[in-house]
Amino acid sequence: MQEKGTISIHTENIFPIIKKFLYSDHEIFLRELVSNAVDASQKIKRLAALGEYTGDLGQLQVEVSVNKKKKTITISDSGLGMTAEEIKKYINQIAFSGASEFVEKFKDAGDAKEIIGKFGLGFYSAFMVADNVEIDTLSYQEGAEPAKWICDGSTEFEITEGKRKTRGTTITLHVNKDSEEFLEESRIQNILTKYAKFLPIEVKFGEKDKSVEDGEDKDGKKKWKTVKEDNIINNTTPLWTKAPADLTDEDYLKFYKELYPFSEDPLFWIHLNVDYPFELTGILYFPKIKNDFEIQKNKIQLYSRQVFITDEVKDVVPEFLMLLHGVIDSPDIPLNVSRSYLQSDGNVKKINAYITKKVGEKLGDLFKKERESYEKKWDDIGLFVKYGMISEEKFYDKAKDFVLVKNTEKKCFTLKEYETHIESNQVDKDKNKIWLYATNPAKQDAFISSAIDKGYDVLVFDTPIDSHFINHMEMKLENTQIKRVDADNIDKLIDKDEKREMVITDEQKESLKGIFDTAIANKTYTVAVEALAPSDAPVSVTMPEFMRRMKDMQATGGGGFNMFGSMPDSYNVTVNGNHKLADKILNASETEAKEGLAKQAFDLALLSQGLLEGKALTDFIKRSTAILGE
Ligand code: ADP
Ligand code: MG
Repeated sequence: MQEKGTISIHTENIFPIIKKFLYSDHEIFLRELVSNAVDASQKIKRLAALGEYTGDLGQLQVEVSVNKKKKTITISDSGLGMTAEEIKKYINQIAFSGASEFVEKFKDAGDAKEIIGKFGLGFYSAFMVADNVEIDTLSYQEGAEPAKWICDGSTEFEITEGKRKTRGTTITLHVNKDSEEFLEESRIQNILTKYAKFLPIEVKFGEKDKSVEDGEDKDGKKKWKTVKEDNIINNTTPLWTKAPADLTDEDYLKFYKELYPFSEDPLFWIHLNVDYPFELTGILYFPKIKNDFEIQKNKIQLYSRQVFITDEVKDVVPEFLMLLHGVIDSPDIPLNVSRSYLQSDGNVKKINAYITKKVGEKLGDLFKKERESYEKKWDDIGLFVKYGMISEEKFYDKAKDFVLVKNTEKKCFTLKEYETHIESNQVDKDKNKIWLYATNPAKQDAFISSAIDKGYDVLVFDTPIDSHFINHMEMKLENTQIKRVDADNIDKLIDKDEKREMVITDEQKESLKGIFDTAIANKTYTVAVEALAPSDAPVSVTMPEFMRRMKDMQATGGGGFNMFGSMPDSYNVTVNGNHKLADKILNASETEAKEGLAKQAFDLALLSQGLLEGKALTDFIKRSTAILGE
């Protein structure tokens, strides 16, 4: 038997298209051919289970091998095989509908993954790396004859009688000149590790060394020898395919290490399992995120029936969940189509919503059942929860009940608890609830103590996401303002309209302001003389809340404020008219002495805010030393 024919496609020649469009991703030929081999193996298993095949299944293993001399790569399986008729049907007729439409559509697409598979081109990806491809196959069907198919990448093919004696298929690639990198074992090992690590049928690639005990030497010491064993690429039953009830914490931690060797243990995890209205399994791990936006190198991996697809999960997983690690496996995610399609895909949207919901439930559960350990983990999960609240309204609705705020005494509150905690006391004359916060308790200690002295509570918001979070919370919480504790004098921050008498006259007030203006001589600082408690600081330097927040947002690159360019600094200087220093300055005999005192007090205020630097600091120290000597 020998037959020649033409591969039926609508375009003249599919191979130039494949070669051209799939250029950047040559390595996926192996993913495609190995998945076909795995599919064929699973099919025979299924046929056996259905009683359609009664022969011996044998060891269902896929074997990949490389022959550097002959420049071939072979992928061999003991799956269901094909008859010559089936080859013609399944391989020759690349009869996808509207091939010209396809060419038109993907003319500009550089992404191979989008094309392969969707149009059933998986097998033909072999021609990206091979000049010649052979199929040797024997079908499981009774009385089937072995068949051999050869094709050189043109539309001409040849089918002859084959020689294969055992059930299954061997694909042989005669690697082309430009693709000889794929004849390197290490390259193949890497590609297999990437795509085949969790395939459901064993994939073997050559052998590897293994040390085994070899009796004892004369001193009773163990002896070791090296033996060869099959190099099996994959774990055929990865954890996500198992029932959660059968798994222990240890299993989950071990699997995490399998996914991300050498990584720190995760905090907790969620085992996902849905089959309606879409199919999805997976495990999401919450890593220790810590308090910075470090780029996460461990990404969520996307699988389709245990075949690795990508770790670019951008459109499948809500953005804030991309901080999580783990795997998602779903045959329902249309992985082989373009990004824009993915975004509008109904399934993807449902999956997105499902994952968000699950994560919210898990966190809510932990909070309810293990509040103590939840609080302990808060530093690690806080960033994630806040990010989620800012970016996903649905998540906000859940998370508002379990998001925590922490005060300077390290006590944690939910939003509701905090409202109660500060109730009535932290309310200004307009009935606004005022939340106070510090970003750096060590630096802002003076302001924190004066707030606490007044019986107020101060929260700590010290992570990069907090400036965004504060803005968001102000939008959400009713009649609530959130103010940084050093943004102004405490009596101004929570203005209860308790007028304090000023001991100096209006005239003296004006003159005091003038003295400070001249002494400071810098437009960055706006001076005001106020009536504060005599025990309050004589001079304080603060940055208005609004200004500070713009700057904070700028620093973490968000909030849309970047368009203004860098914000200039701007500070308020509050001179306490009721402090005895005010008196002393006004009563000093000479202008020089007045301004000297003012300057010294101002510098002290800057110093307490950590704002005194460089020459100004040196001058201040010189001046202070001189004063000590007087
Ligand atoms: P797809 O896998 O999406 O169907 P492919 O181009 O990868 O598309 O394969 C086309 C068809 O060829 C498969 O559906 C299958 O019927 C057949 N085939 C490919 N490889 C094998 C194999 N190793 N064993 C049996 N059949 C195969
Ligand atoms: Mg395929």
